Amino acid sequence: MSELPLPPGSTLGILGGGQLGRMLALAAARLGFDVAVLERDADSPAGRVAAHTIVGPYADPDALETLAAVAAVVTYEFENVPADSVLILQRLGVEVAPGPEALAVAQDRVAEKQFLNASGAPTVAYSSADTAEEAVAATAQMGAPVLMKTRREGYDGKGQRWVEHPADAAKAFADLGGGPVILEAPADFVRELSIIAARGRDGATAIYPLSENHHEGGILRRTLAPAHVSQALAEQAERIAARILSGLNYVGVIGIELFEMKDGRLLVNEIAPRVHNTGHWTQDGCAVDQFEQHIRAVAGWPLGPTEPHARVEMLNLLGDEVDAWAKLAHEPDTRLHLYGKRDAKPGRKMGHVNKLHPL
Ligand code: AMP
Repeated sequence: MSELPLPPGSTLGILGGGQLGRMLALAAARLGFDVAVLERDADSPAGRVAAHTIVGPYADPDALETLAAVAAVVTYEFENVPADSVLILQRLGVEVAPGPEALAVAQDRVAEKQFLNASGAPTVAYSSADTAEEAVAATAQMGAPVLMKTRREGYDGKGQRWVEHPADAAKAFADLGGGPVILEAPADFVRELSIIAARGRDGATAIYPLSENHHEGGILRRTLAPAHVSQALAEQAERIAARILSGLNYVGVIGIELFEMKDGRLLVNEIAPRVHNTGHWTQDGCAVDQFEQHIRAVAGWPLGPTEPHARVEMLNLLGDEVDAWAKLAHEPDTRLHLYGKRDAKPGRKMGHVNKLHPL
C-alpha cells in the first residue's frame, strides 16, 4: 500500500482518457503529480496532457499491471469501470478511490435507488423488471406514465423511454435492448439542481453550493451557479450529500443530481462517483475547483475551500459550436476550456465556457 498523503512527484493513475480525465490530469500536474492514463484510444484528450498513457481496455490485466507498476493511487473519470479492474488493482497493492461500493451503487440504477432510500436520500418511487411481462405488470401497478431506463450503462439521457400506457411497456422494454430495467414515477420537478461534494480519506467533507442545470435532448447545456436557493433548500441538499458520502465511505468528488419538487423537497435523480459536468463552474467560480478537490481527496491531502468568488454561467460547447472559440476568446469575462478532441461530431462535448458575473 502506498504512503498517504501521496507526495508531489508521485504518479497518479486515471482510468479513462476523456475530458474529465484531462481536467483531472491538469489539476494533478499543478499539484506536482505525474499522471498515467489507461485508455483504449492512443490519442485521447487526457492522454495528450499526461506523463504516461497506457493503451488498452480497462479490464486488460496486463494494462492494469503496467498501471499498477507506476501509479500508487488510481482514480477514474467514468462510472462504468469494470468491478474486476478495481479488484485487480487492489490485489496489486494500489489504492483505488472512490472505492468499489460507490461503483457498485452507481452502475445499477436499482442498487442506487435502494442505497439512496436506505441512506435517507429520497428518490422518486420506482419498480424493476427483468422481462417484458414484468415491465407491463409493473407499469400497470405503478400507473402510467413511467420512465423506463436500462438498469445499467445509460448516460446523457440515453437508454430511457417514457411509457404512456401499460400496453406500450413491452415495446419500450424491447427498444431498450430487452435487459433489466428500472421504472420510475415521473418527477414533477420545478428545477434540476445538482450538488458537488467531496470526502477526504480522513472523513472530512467539502460541499460546493448548489447549481441549477438545463438539459436539451438529455445533454447538459447550461449550468448556473451558485443557484438562487433558500437557506433551507441549501441545508437540505447538504444533508443529502453528507448522508451519501458517509453511507458509501466515499473518497473523492461526487456529483449528485437533484430534482427540486413543487413542495420544496429535493429528490435524488442519480449520483456520479466522479467529477461532474455540472461542477465545471467551480474551475472559475471557486479557489479550489472540483478537479483539484478530487485529486486532493484521492491523494490523501486536506480538502480545499468551496466558497464561491463569482457567479458562473457554464455553457457546454457541443459539436461545431466549438468553432466560436476565436469570438469567445475576445470576451474578457469568459473562460474557455477546450478538450482537444479532433473530431467535432454533432452533440459531442468539445469544450465549455464559464462566463463570470459578480456574486
Ligand atoms: P438520467 O439519465 O437519469 O440523469 O436522466 C436524464 C434526464 O431525464 C434528467 O436530467 C431529467 O431531465 C430526466 N429525468 C430522469 N428521471 C426522471 C424522472 N423520474 N422524472 C422526470 N424526468 C426525469
